[in-house]
Amino acid sequence: MNRDSRVSGPGSAFGPGSSDRDAGGGARRGRGAALRIAGLYIGVSLLYIVTSDRIVAAVAPSQSQNAVFQTIKGSGFVLLTGVMLWYLIRRNMSELHRLNESLARQGGRLRILLDDAPIAICLVRRGVLEYLNTAARAMLGPNQELTGTRLLDRVAEPSRAAVQRAVEDVERSGRPARLNEQKLVDTNGREIDVELAACPFAPDEGAVQVAIIDVTERKRLEAGLTQAHKMEAVGKLASGVSHEFNNLLTAILGYSTLARQGLARGAPTTRCLDQIDSVAKHAAGITRSLLTLSRASPALKQLLPLRPIVDEAIDLVRSVVPKTIQLEVATTLPEGASVLVDAAQLKQAILNLAMNARDAMPAGGTLWIRTSFTADHGPGLPHGAAVIRVSDTGVGIPPEVRARLFTPFFTTKPAGKGTGLGLALTRSIIEDHGGSIHVESEVGKGSAFTVSLPCTSPGQPAAAPPTRAGQHVVIVGEDTPEVLSIVTLSLRSAGYTVIPATDGGEVIRLVQEHKDRLDALIMDVGLPTASGVECLIRARQIVPHLPVVLMTGGAMPDLPAEEDRLLERLPKPFRTEALVERLAAVIDERARAASHG
Ligand code: ADP
Repeated sequence: MNRDSRVSGPGSAFGPGSSDRDAGGGARRGRGAALRIAGLYIGVSLLYIVTSDRIVAAVAPSQSQNAVFQTIKGSGFVLLTGVMLWYLIRRNMSELHRLNESLARQGGRLRILLDDAPIAICLVRRGVLEYLNTAARAMLGPNQELTGTRLLDRVAEPSRAAVQRAVEDVERSGRPARLNEQKLVDTNGREIDVELAACPFAPDEGAVQVAIIDVTERKRLEAGLTQAHKMEAVGKLASGVSHEFNNLLTAILGYSTLARQGLARGAPTTRCLDQIDSVAKHAAGITRSLLTLSRASPALKQLLPLRPIVDEAIDLVRSVVPKTIQLEVATTLPEGASVLVDAAQLKQAILNLAMNARDAMPAGGTLWIRTSFTADHGPGLPHGAAVIRVSDTGVGIPPEVRARLFTPFFTTKPAGKGTGLGLALTRSIIEDHGGSIHVESEVGKGSAFTVSLPCTSPGQPAAAPPTRAGQHVVIVGEDTPEVLSIVTLSLRSAGYTVIPATDGGEVIRLVQEHKDRLDALIMDVGLPTASGVECLIRARQIVPHLPVVLMTGGAMPDLPAEEDRLLERLPKPFRTEALVERLAAVIDERARAASHG
């Protein structure tokens, strides 16, 4: 763009010489020049008249000669003053011209400075935008002429009264004003969070200069930071509550298993126990989601058939979509297709995608959840991939939103409705499972999110873990009495000799006492007096290569690499069968290592 044409458009308040300061200086100089000219004129004329009268009286002896001399004197006067006036006016005119040029140059520089200022500045005269610099034009209406439109047209409804009052106050009082926490709206309808500073520009003409600072990004970051603090607090709370909750669930699941053992096959009470199991597992899933959100829980992955997981996720989706949305489900995924997966996390990811689809269809539409298998052996997919596609006929995703879709805390939903964590968490879950997520969308037509997960081949059955028991001696360290009692009961009924302990110190004492016949140690990581990790290290100093099962209702601790062998980690809640299996596996591993070594 041509700089000069840009800065001096028609109607611009910054036309040459139009600023008050320039005008004031010019007027003063003009008055000085006029006084000089008048003074000189009067002085020279008086001098001429007096001296010429004397000369005429001295050189004109007769009356008739006097008349001729008077005519010459008068003509001389006209000639002299004419020349003098011409000289003085010319001198002052060229001085004024030089002055004007310098002022215009100065004004031009100032206009460039103003126009290129990184802050949006506009001039408002009686409520109408008279001038906008480049930043203001880019902020408020990049593709539209805004000069001549009303300032209030660019102010969002809730801010209108405050902005109008502030501008009128500045006009009236001539004192500057500042406004924080306001919202403007650009010509595309996008709301912009701003701070405004208004100050008088030409008070006699009712002109006000308004500087606008875009604080949208700062507010977004502040909101993100607040959210992060909140999430940190929620995370701490979640991991504390979940820890306690998981102990209770472990006891519930354990006692339900024990109760089942005393019942005849098909007894009516088994149906109640099935319900207890199912509700307890659902509750366990909720605590795990809480821990995943707060990043306090590692994924609990198992090789599982995918279809039942997706079916359970679809049941959850059904309960959150309104009747105006038609849910269409289709699967070509073979029954045996299995993935190494944390089922609760994957269900959470599918639910997140479906809830976004629901929110994108406020007036209703169709939500599809399709699953399929692709045998494509891409990088990281040696056995093909399971594909889950969640699509909708909603509003679609504009390119600027798409670019930030997976950014934590990015949301276009109103405060209280969106956290901006759904897609960030979904992607982190999918990538943690070795998969990927892709999005396709067309504004006004809908969106589709496609998740691919590394999969076993369809015919390959899920690996069934061996079920074993043994005649071994184990110490169980657990400070929650319900959990200690159910674990002890379950292990005894599986044939183990169990020595219970309720704190870390007691565990160490018992290890020392039974070191010659001890086969394994099972304990909670958060034992009183000595933590699970301390107990593990000290117990292995007493009994080298002691197999250990660590249980926890929260995050698993990191262990020194040399202690990470002959070790099973068991997140709570667990089914007691799982504990028995893991224990057998770790004891077996030591036996194998001993026979090889
Ligand atoms: P939240 O749902 O809390 O806003 P997300 O991370 O789940 O957080 O989504 C971020 C943003 O992505 C949403 O605010 C929305 O603008 C956009 N979005 C996600 N899914 C869809 C969809 N299916 N259709 C339209 N927009 C979507």
